Amino acid sequence: MDTKMDNRRTAAGMATAAAVLLTVAGIAVAGPGIGPGIGASEEVVDNPEDAREQHDDGEPAALAARERPQAERPLTTLEPVEWGRARESDAEALGILGSAVPPASYQRLSWSATELFEGIPVDTPVLVMNGRYPGPVLCLTAAVHGDELNGIEIVRRVLHDLDPQKLSGAVIGVPIVNLQAFRRGSRYLPDRRDLNRYFPGNPDGSAASRIAHSFFTSIVRHCDALVDLHTGSFARANLPQLRADLRDPGVVTLTQGFGATVIINSIPADGTLRQAATDAGIPTVTLEAGGPSRLETEEVSHGVKGIETLLNTLGMVRKVSLWGDPEPVYYRSTWVRANRGGILLSEVDLGRRVSAGDLLGTITDPITNARTNIYAPTEGRVIGMALNQVVMPGYAAFHIGLPRPEPKTAEAAEESPAGGPAAGEARSETEPTDADGAEPTPGEEASVAASAAGGEGGRGEDPAGKAEAAGAGAGDR
Ligand SMILES: [Zn+2]
Repeated sequence: MDTKMDNRRTAAGMATAAAVLLTVAGIAVAGPGIGPGIGASEEVVDNPEDAREQHDDGEPAALAARERPQAERPLTTLEPVEWGRARESDAEALGILGSAVPPASYQRLSWSATELFEGIPVDTPVLVMNGRYPGPVLCLTAAVHGDELNGIEIVRRVLHDLDPQKLSGAVIGVPIVNLQAFRRGSRYLPDRRDLNRYFPGNPDGSAASRIAHSFFTSIVRHCDALVDLHTGSFARANLPQLRADLRDPGVVTLTQGFGATVIINSIPADGTLRQAATDAGIPTVTLEAGGPSRLETEEVSHGVKGIETLLNTLGMVRKVSLWGDPEPVYYRSTWVRANRGGILLSEVDLGRRVSAGDLLGTITDPITNARTNIYAPTEGRVIGMALNQVVMPGYAAFHIGLPRPEPKTAEAAEESPAGGPAAGEARSETEPTDADGAEPTPGEEASVAASAAGGEGGRGEDPAGKAEAAGAGAGDR
């Protein structure tokens, strides 16, 4: 009943063998060259405040992942289907979750993790559309963080726009991965664990780890590529953007399918779905759009358009391209932090292009009325930002994307990032300047501490931002 999956596994095995060779080549050719611009320690985060704590609890899987050298990971591949050839034969049934979904059909299945806090199984809907013709299995996951709503709507719209009679391959959509968190309106599981730090999970680990393991084995293993949908965290909003590890050829292919979407090169944090799936040979990107606890039509529309363009690029659907052929723009990035507490009011909008020294926002002390300004430390684009709110010193307020040459392949990424300052330069420009802690006077120029998201050196040079720079993990999603 499961011929399709068998074929897929065979293909995956061949891809793995090929990838081993690629990995060897990658070490020799690309290793250090990639480092300075988009180094292995670069981590882009959407939750810069608490990532470190959330997963640092000695989970065996997380520890193992942290200690594993990056070079051991096989690289992934992703081949678009040839439309004409795909239509010469019909697809096989897709076996998943104990069901065989016939070709040219749509089914709503459910996944239930084996161990839950209340001891009551929670049925999580899994939408499976198996196309009439053979092709890749693309998975869409949303609400791994329960308060991130835009992705839920993106999954719904993409699946309901598809026609299984015209589809090559299959689309598996899980609109709400973390149903327990979603029901509570929370980012986290009921025990405050971040599910997105526990993949691929462990059947004998914590509750979060068991849920992650069940999800990973029941669903993720069936995917040939995966798009994990997220938003900014904690009153921050993100310009629609992909987070992608551009050292991986399969991931690069995936990013190039999304049309005019900003792409941030980022090494995934340990335990994220993005990391675990890519490690398992499934190229994965995170699509970030908007902020938490809201449904934003503009961001949702961008996400839907991006994924539909991807389906087109992968040869899974054939329709007039929604997006023409605009090139994606690749960035490195850096966070700009508040060095004073107070009321943060932004002076820029999401997506604004800024020059070094441009005013990004102000922080006003509600008691003393002292106001400080936050300036852009470098040229770039505002790709994420805090909503107006009360902030503490050290709060990551503005996420600045630094343009860099477009890496078509891992080899191309080796080229020096002449298009923008190197990570090291960005750091040196943004050292804290008010280390003496003098009281600010009204109108005083604010100092900013920007933790360069790239380069390991950032860890030691940004005391105020260590949670994010180090671990940032915070990561996607
Ligand atoms: Zn998230």
